[in-house]
Amino acid sequence: MRKETRCVHGANDSKETNGAVSFPIYQSATFSHPGLGESTGYDYSRLQNPTREHLEKVMAALENGVGALAFSSGMAAASALMELFVPGDHIIVSSDTYGGTSRLFRNISVKNGLKFDFTDTSDIELVESLISEDTKAIFIETPTNPMMHVSDISRLSALAKANSMLTIVDNTFLTPYFQQPLSLGADIVLHSGTKYLGGHNDTLAGFLVTKSPEISEKLRFIYKTTGACLSPFDSWLIERGIKTLALRMEKHQKNAMGAARWLENHSKVRKVFYIGLESHPDYKVSTSQTSGFGGMISFEVDSEETVKKVLGGVRLISYAESLGGVESLITYPMLQTHADLPMEERLSRGINEKLLRLSVGIEDLEDIVEDLAEALGD
Ligand SMILES: *Cc1c(COP(=O)(O)O)cnc(C)c1O
Repeated sequence: MRKETRCVHGANDSKETNGAVSFPIYQSATFSHPGLGESTGYDYSRLQNPTREHLEKVMAALENGVGALAFSSGMAAASALMELFVPGDHIIVSSDTYGGTSRLFRNISVKNGLKFDFTDTSDIELVESLISEDTKAIFIETPTNPMMHVSDISRLSALAKANSMLTIVDNTFLTPYFQQPLSLGADIVLHSGTKYLGGHNDTLAGFLVTKSPEISEKLRFIYKTTGACLSPFDSWLIERGIKTLALRMEKHQKNAMGAARWLENHSKVRKVFYIGLESHPDYKVSTSQTSGFGGMISFEVDSEETVKKVLGGVRLISYAESLGGVESLITYPMLQTHADLPMEERLSRGINEKLLRLSVGIEDLEDIVEDLAEALGD
């Protein structure tokens, strides 16, 4: 089944569900047993629930994995992932990751004895120079948030494999519709399902997908033991979102390309970071590993004054955190998503007081651009 079809039809076996075209919501915490030592296959919903299991099968298929786990948020997935490691283990991380991931690693995981090096994973030699005996994994986000750096998944995976390390990719920004890290050699994919997979800014969710049966089993044990599982209703909402993933991603990308080109030519815009622009430094790597560029743009304006005008002036676009939904959202990484990073690091990464991040929605591009034009004060 090709990916567009898979998004729509999921893993549906309507014979098991009385012909229901939309997979039913099994809103039950527990399941009765037919007799001693017998089970319907479901015992208690923390361990597994039919609706969640169905969603997990869809995600595993979309990412070409053997198993997927659906969590109550992306951060719940990242926290469970860290339980694969033991005190003393060292992990190399993309320096420009999502603020919450960085906060988790720096404040919670270090307390459990894990060691992290944050570096530019677009630079393979730099990554290689950080590998030691204790290094157990490379954690990459590509493209990164908010600076849109791209890392070469195949080359990093090969390097990791040669050193008996795992490659973990946060695939939230591009989704399996545009990028399939497991097929490029990665071992584990992480998602915030809250973003494009759900797609409607209405549900929190997270995923881990792996192509290794052994890792899948370990993660399943951690999952059922720690318990941050996705509820049946939220599982159903995310699956409903996935049904239109292909259409939405195409439209997000088309709008983002238009908005990025428009921003590039605006007198108050100094820099535009969008991986679909030929001027992007990683454009070649992107085209070699993805089938599209997604809907996320960051851009730097001429002054803090302009930032204030934009954030206060947008009407159609909401000034809000998050991304990947049908509605366009704009945020200010300096004070929102990345506020917990030390100031020095924010600035060295390019997250300054003039940087804005735009999640381009699926509205009419003309309306998005008109709103930006008015807010920027044309
Ligand atoms: C939002 C996000 C997360 C965290 O996911 P939540 O669902 O908000 O917990 C992780 N990584 C990336 C890239 C994100 O955008």
